[in-house]
Amino acid sequence: MKKKILIYIVIFIIILGISFLQNYINKLFFQQTDSVIALQVGQGDAVLLESDLGARVLVDGGPDNSVVYRLGDYLPLFDMSLDGVFMTHADLDHVLGTIEVMRRYQVKYLFITDFIKDKYLGQLALQEAEKNNVNVVIVNIGDVIDLSGMKISVLWPDESMNYSNANDTSIVIRVDFQYGSVMLTGDASIDIEEKLINIFSNNPEILDVDVLKAGHHGSRTATGPAFVEATSPQFAIISAGLNNKFGHPHMEVIDILNKYNVKIVDNVYQDLQIEFSENGLVVY
Ligand SMILES: [Zn+2]
Repeated sequence: MKKKILIYIVIFIIILGISFLQNYINKLFFQQTDSVIALQVGQGDAVLLESDLGARVLVDGGPDNSVVYRLGDYLPLFDMSLDGVFMTHADLDHVLGTIEVMRRYQVKYLFITDFIKDKYLGQLALQEAEKNNVNVVIVNIGDVIDLSGMKISVLWPDESMNYSNANDTSIVIRVDFQYGSVMLTGDASIDIEEKLINIFSNNPEILDVDVLKAGHHGSRTATGPAFVEATSPQFAIISAGLNNKFGHPHMEVIDILNKYNVKIVDNVYQDLQIEFSENGLVVY
């Protein structure tokens, strides 16, 4: 009996060893890519950003706990940690999953805005952050977060302004990897997109990216023609649930993206993975 247990233990250790080695070798020799993964979490947003040097950030967590299982497919078994989690704004379809992520994973930083602090879901998230020793950082326009192989520039919100709509307080970030760039705008509306175009009119290249996540799940309230022109992406990601009650993505947005020859990709049926490497951009 004892012998049997010993054999099981040895087999278990060998399996763990192989898995560890695999991750290590992958990182050392093969993972020369940066990736943007729009996790399939139904009607919501949860985007995992991974740099070729191993920095990992999650932007929003979707409307339920499913993000935890989706993340499990991408995080190495021996390193269930995230450098940061962004909570773009305090709507359920963005926040709820992040709370569970803080419970299950080691999260170094939680990035939020001042607008989230007073909201019910925001407070739940802050309590969870405290319980799990997650450092909370309030971000504002102009902030830059430098991680290994990943630079995150915060383009919005502007704390000094008043908003009638929570969507317009969404954190907007531009992420620069070694081999590519992506713009994530949460649920910010066309109004904010136009403000950004004005703010950065002297440095329009700040808005120019390889990949744009269509704002507000492809709703007609976001992704206006001027912003598509300013960002000039090769690909637009639409993160929305199958047969969602809002009818996202709206036809108007699809038409605008088609007009500007932007290829549309989505995560309706499965995770959408975009990889940047020195050879260019690949979509899975
Ligand atoms: Zn949303």
